[in-house]
Amino acid sequence: MEIERKRLAERLKEELGLSEKVYKAILKVPRHLFVPERYREDSYADIPLPIGYGQTISAPHMVAIMCELLDLKDGEKVLEIGTGSGYHAAVTAEIVGKKGKVLSIEYIPELAVEAEKNLKMLGYENVIVIVGDGSKGYEPEAPYDKIYVTAAAPDIPRPLIEQLKVGGKMVIPVGSMDQYLYVVEKDEKGIRKWNWGAVRFVPLRGEYGFKC
Ligand code: SAM
Repeated sequence: MEIERKRLAERLKEELGLSEKVYKAILKVPRHLFVPERYREDSYADIPLPIGYGQTISAPHMVAIMCELLDLKDGEKVLEIGTGSGYHAAVTAEIVGKKGKVLSIEYIPELAVEAEKNLKMLGYENVIVIVGDGSKGYEPEAPYDKIYVTAAAPDIPRPLIEQLKVGGKMVIPVGSMDQYLYVVEKDEKGIRKWNWGAVRFVPLRGEYGFKC
């Protein structure tokens, strides 16, 4: 699996022009341990895979692109909405390092339990998994340097904007049939957002999500 992982990381580095820190994180995190056993042999194909409950682990290129867009730095406090398998949280945790912290919220308790088990087994002490409705953010640990959402929202949830630090950044897919990935930057005057391009994510649920 290590050879396949290296091949994937090298390919993403070449195709996307990854920074050294994102490349190293993709190279280090064992994606196959976050994938259900029956899909394990496809772990290092650059595709999303089913993780149960109608959800997916995102494709590695999408994880890498979101990390680059967020410009993650050592020591940052990051909020992830949509833990899923826990893989993306592990990649983020590698980049923010031991002085950093990743708070990750998952709506489906069974997925949260499995993700937490895998993250603990791999020694990611700086990732905290919380079961709940991440469309409302997570007020107790706010504000966050960076926020990212791994499910598509109808619009950018107001609580997430409020819980972002001034000077912070958020990456979020927005839309239902046509979805676009937005990069949101917050300063003293408010927010500025730009559209990175078309994407495909599962829908965000909860209070500021889709009613499905
Ligand atoms: N980041 C994940 C990974 O590395 O495997 C992929 C996440 S999957 C594409 C999206 C996840 O968002 C699903 O696990 C889904 O249950 C979760 N989700 C959807 N709505 C949510 C909400 N309101 N709060 C928290 N999690 C939510």
